[in-house]
Parts: sequence; structure tokens; C-alpha cells
Amino acid sequence: MRPTIARVALPVPLDKEFEYTIPSHLFPVVGVRVWVPFGPKKLLGVITALTHQSEYDINKLKPLNSVLDFEPIWPEKLYKLIYWSSRFYQHPLGDTLNGAMPGALRKGKPAQKQAQKSWTITHQGRDQLMQGFGRAVQQAKVMHALQDGSLSHNELLNLEIPSSVLKTLEQKQWITSSEVVEINNQWQEVRVNAQDKRELNHEQMLAVVTVNHVEGYECALLDGVTGSGKTEVYLQLIEAIVNQGKQALVLVPEIGLTPQTINRFKRRFNVPIATIHSALNDTERLNAWLEAKNKECGIVIGTRSALLTPFADLGIIIVDEEHDSSYKQQDSLRYHARDMAIMRAHSEAIPIVLGSATPSLETLNNALCGKYLHLKLTERAGGALPAKNSVIDVKGLYLESGLSAPLIAQMRKHLQQGNQVMLFLNRRGFSPAMMCHECGWIAECHRCDAYYTFHQGSSEMRCHHCGSQKPVVHQCQSCGSTHLVTVGVGTEQLETHLDDLFPEFKTIRIDRDNTRRKGSLEAALQSIRNGEYQILIGTQMLAKGHHFPDVTLVALLDVDSSLYSSDFRASEKLAQLFIQVAGRAGRASKPGHVVLQTHHPEHSLLQALLHKGYPEFAHNALLERKVAQLPPYASLSLFRAESNHSQLAEDFLRQVRQTLETHPLFDQQCWVLGPTPAPMAKRAGKSRWQLILQCQLRSTMQKLLMSAKPVIEMLPNAKKVRWNIDVEPQDLS
Ligand code: ADP
Ligand code: ZN
Ligand code: ZN
Repeated sequence: MRPTIARVALPVPLDKEFEYTIPSHLFPVVGVRVWVPFGPKKLLGVITALTHQSEYDINKLKPLNSVLDFEPIWPEKLYKLIYWSSRFYQHPLGDTLNGAMPGALRKGKPAQKQAQKSWTITHQGRDQLMQGFGRAVQQAKVMHALQDGSLSHNELLNLEIPSSVLKTLEQKQWITSSEVVEINNQWQEVRVNAQDKRELNHEQMLAVVTVNHVEGYECALLDGVTGSGKTEVYLQLIEAIVNQGKQALVLVPEIGLTPQTINRFKRRFNVPIATIHSALNDTERLNAWLEAKNKECGIVIGTRSALLTPFADLGIIIVDEEHDSSYKQQDSLRYHARDMAIMRAHSEAIPIVLGSATPSLETLNNALCGKYLHLKLTERAGGALPAKNSVIDVKGLYLESGLSAPLIAQMRKHLQQGNQVMLFLNRRGFSPAMMCHECGWIAECHRCDAYYTFHQGSSEMRCHHCGSQKPVVHQCQSCGSTHLVTVGVGTEQLETHLDDLFPEFKTIRIDRDNTRRKGSLEAALQSIRNGEYQILIGTQMLAKGHHFPDVTLVALLDVDSSLYSSDFRASEKLAQLFIQVAGRAGRASKPGHVVLQTHHPEHSLLQALLHKGYPEFAHNALLERKVAQLPPYASLSLFRAESNHSQLAEDFLRQVRQTLETHPLFDQQCWVLGPTPAPMAKRAGKSRWQLILQCQLRSTMQKLLMSAKPVIEMLPNAKKVRWNIDVEPQDLS
């Protein structure tokens, strides 16, 4: 008998599905998109079940408006994974499914490739290439970019080319545009270019052979020091997969998807490669998604969200830099792409490789206890030497804009030898606070529990937590004195100071303040590689994935804030940063030197890291976690609540605590900590509280959350405060 009722998941904050009757002219199946009436609105949802029965009065149900697809938009296994993630991460199914779709599908566009405007060079244009473009730099950039083939309109805009330049070139008839839908499901017979393929060393070979022999699911940690040739291993693993006619998914951290990375894959493979990242427009994203689904592409390289790409025939998943925190989504569905990738490999019965020089403690623990294969690459390919390291004990030393005299002396030595120097400071702005010299008053954001950061460049004070800004104050608001001083050092101040200290060398600063524009980070990195700058100042951003062969000295200016942080992961992150920068500096003929400034050179984790390296650090850190019953030895969930009225948020979490503690599944291996004020107790005018649920077993936590959440949603304060659950949070703030 034909089903009469469709259950539909809708993007609304309610954790339930909605029922609609099926008009006789519509024939939906589970997994298709539908338009439905919802109150006064029309919403796009996904059918999750078809049935004959309803708890409600059928006569009161409204009919579906229309059905958008003939077949489910996700392959069944992927649909099940998305469904699972909604339950695991405690996020409503409707919103989870909605978020997993490309934007174009969310808006009701057909699941078909869309035409894209693309630009090609003309004959006249080719002639002009020979003659050059004089001072028309932008025009030259376009023409050179198009030299090797057409590019889409958006790809050109991503190169920071204004569309007016394209128009000019079109008028000159040097380039021409077309609207094309390219369908290309014929892969070339020869799928691999062997030219720049390396002969693998013994360890690399062992890694490739081991994974090649995996049948079905297996997770392997590729634990390889920086520069040990992990990427070459990925390439050769993928080679085996595409030669079998299957597809590969490569996940990279947000900042790792550089043209260099993509080109390395494009040079090696003749199969089409799609990239998926946050800068794509709707059309590009939908097209890439469909190319993977219809097997028009062989390889997808992408950031976090690429994990949910459908594939016709997925053969392997690679997660590069698996320890990177950008794999965890910080809002709506708070998923961890690495963890979900493992689930996905499991359900697709394929191998997955997690690569890192500094594996997360979670992953390392799984490898050490035999849950994952542990493949090691211990040598730097190409024979580059590991960096030397040393510590400067800054106790009692005078710091000039955060630099100690011994460090300045070392910098001078390296710079005079014609090398580059890189300085890390994880604090943007000129100075983290402004203080009255007479009475100690500090300019505070009135909406947050935080000081204003002084930005000299834009001469304003900005709150890094709520984004509010105001002109710099010149008078103390407590005693009226005009003697205001800055406290602490940010990257901007460091930059100003270095210009005074080393006027003969050029300094560049790379942080979020000056790399907001598309392509500006890439341009800055290129100018560093070209040697235009000798001193590089950066936050974490500069550490990831970029190799700087002429950098011979790297200094971490303030490691103490990480050693004594309230976040138990801070020391792990510091160790990862240290190893990453140490691995990216220098080259065979010019070994790198890494220097740490600290008031606590005797700190045990620091000692292990410096003298014995990351594995020893990780070993000690794991012991500490075990004693403290922290991940990976327990599973955590973080409840966050915020409100204009502090008491409401606190009371709500107190009720949550009581709900959890009195639940039958709450056993002796479960603990609740809190409610406590969040590390940033006030932000953007709201008071913030948190509560941590800690369970020894992940499965217990899951069951407990599943069955307690509906109760929590009914708590008296649940509708009065803003709250969320972050399952396995990466960041406890
Ligand atoms: P990782 O990803 O581990 O940081 P890469 O794969 O980028 O390392 O390799 C670092 C450098 O070593 C690259 O220039 C790469 O071409 C080179 N390389 C990798 N494997 C080999 C090898 N077996 N023989 C020679 N050079 C290699
Ligand atoms: Zn603020
Ligand atoms: Zn004062």
C-alpha cells in the first residue's frame, strides 16, 4: 500500500520531526528534499520516513508542497553517518541535515551541475603575451594565470583580480568568457604522472605497503617528523586507489589548503581533482559536491566540511595534520571532522590514514594501545638536520617589547648572516591593556570580562571578545590623570619596536588583523619566500604548513601562558607549535635554531619536550591526563549557558547537574564539575557559565546525554537562557 504520511526533518531548533500528508500526485522516497508549509512560512526539509500512521489527527496534517528530487541526495551510508552525528553531538536532526547540504541545495536548487562563467585566452591574447603588458600589472596577472588553460570567474576573483580588469581585457578581445557545464566522467587511462615521484625510503615503503594491504576498515596513524615525506606517502597511497578506479578524500587544516598543496596533487595525478573549502561560492560548492558524487573527480581535497561530501566509490580517507584544532566545528553541529572521518571509514569499510608530526594525545593513545596501526617515519627526507633548541630563562631580565637581551643578540647574529628570523607571539594588537600610571585603572570592555586591546595602527581600543571598539582614551576614567601607559606586548608593538631595533632589516607581521582579505596571506607568504622580509612576526597562523628554508632562528616569546593555562590542552598545543616551527625552519645546509623564553625553564613538560622530543613529552602528558582522568582516559561534555542575568544561567546549569546526577545511567564513573563561571565570565554583555560532564566511558556518556537531553529541554530555565552542549569539546572556554 502506498504510504500516506511523510516524516520531515526541518531546519528549526526543535529536536523533532514533523508530519505531512502525501498528495496523490507526489511519489517521494526517504532522503529527498521537499518544500513544506510551516506556520506562515515555506521550509525546505528532508524526508526521514514514510508511513501510514500518525499520533496526530491525519485530517489536521498539512500536505507536502512539492518534492525536489527523484532519488535521495545522500548515499545511504553517508546519510546514516549524518544521522549518527546528530545524535552523537546532540544537535537537532533537521538542522544537521540542512547544514550537511551545499548551500545551493539548501535553497532548493536542483541537484544538477550549474553553468559557471569561465575565462579563456584568445589568439590575440596569446600574441600579446609575447609582447608583455608594460605597467598593467593586474592585466599581466590575469593573462599569465590563463596561460595554461581556462579558469572560472571565481577562481580569478580569488586571485584578487577585480572584475573591472576582466572587463577591460574582454573589450581588448584578449580574453573571452563562456558559461559552461562541464561533465567529465571519463578518467584518463594513465592516471599518474611518474616524473616527480620519489623513490620511497624504507619507512615510507613500509607505510605504503602496510596500508595497501588493508582489507576493509583500518585506521593508521602516520607518525612522521616534519619533512619526513608524509605527503609522498599519501600520494602513493592514493595512486593505488585511483588505479583501481576508486576515489580518495584528503582532509587538510583550514590554513593548509594552499595552491602549493593542490598543485602537488595536480602534478601527480591525471584524474580530475575537486577542492572544497569555505571560500567557494554556492555554484562551485555544488559542482564539486556533484563531481564527487557522480565520480567525475577522483580526488577531493578539502577542509573540515569536505568530510560530508558524497562519493560514488570512496577508497581511502587521509587526514593530514590530524591534531589540528580547525577540524572541530565550534558552532551548530559541533563535530570533529577527524573523528567523524574515522566513523565514515568504518562504515564504508575502507582504510583511513591520520598523519601528523605531533599526533593529538587521543590519537597517539589509540595507536599505542593497538587500536590503530602505528606507522612511523623517523627521518627527514632529503637529509635535512633537525633543529637545535634552547631556553632563555627570562626571570629578572629586562624585556624590551617582550624581547630579552640574549635573544636580541642572537637575532642580530642570524640576521647579519643573511638569514631570516621568525618570532611567535599569540597576542594581536599593540598591547593587551592600557593602564593609568597614577592609580592602576585599566580600560575594560564594559560588555566583557576583558581588557581593551590597544591597536596603535588604527588608533583605537578593541575588545577581542565581542569586537566592540572605541577611540583611544587619553585620560584615566578613575582619577583623571593623563599619564596612561600600555601593559604587555602584542604583535603590533613588537613590529614597531623591531623597526627601531633593526632599521636595516624589514619586518612583516602575519596575524588575523592583516590577513583578512582573500589571498593576502598567500601574497605575504610568497614575499617571505622571496626574501623581501628578514624578520617575521606571527601568531599560530604562521606555524602551519609553511616551509621557510631561510629561517634559521625561531623564537617563542611567551610560553608561560600555555604552561599555566586553565585549559588542560594548552601544553599539548604549545608542544605541537614548538615541534611544527622547529620542523619548518632551515634546510640541510642551514639547520634551524629554536629558542623559548620562559620564567619556568624547569617545568617538567618543557624539559621532556626540549631534551627528549615530542614522544617523551606526549608520554608524560598522557600520564598526567590519566591521573586527572582527562581525555583520552575519559569523555567530556561541556554545557555552556549564557544570559543577561547571571543567576538564570547558573540556576539552569544547577538544574542540569541535578538532572544528570539523579539519572539512573549516572554511575560511579561519572562526574559533574560546576556550574562555574566560564573562563571568560562575561562576553558581549552576557554572563557565561559552564558545567562539565565527565564519564569514564564514551558509551555511558552517550546514553546518558541521549536520555537526559529531553528532560533538560523541559527544565524551567531552559527557555530563558541560551545554552548548548559541546560533546568532546576541544576548547573549554
Ligand atoms: P611531510 O609531509 O612529512 O612534511 P613532505 O612529503 O612534504 O614531508 O616531504 C618533504 C620533502 O622531502 C619534499 O620536498 C619531498 O619532495 C621530499 N621527499 C619526500 N620523500 C622523499 C624520498 N623518498 N626521497 C627524497 N625526497 C623525498
Ligand atoms: Zn567586549
Ligand atoms: Zn588613574
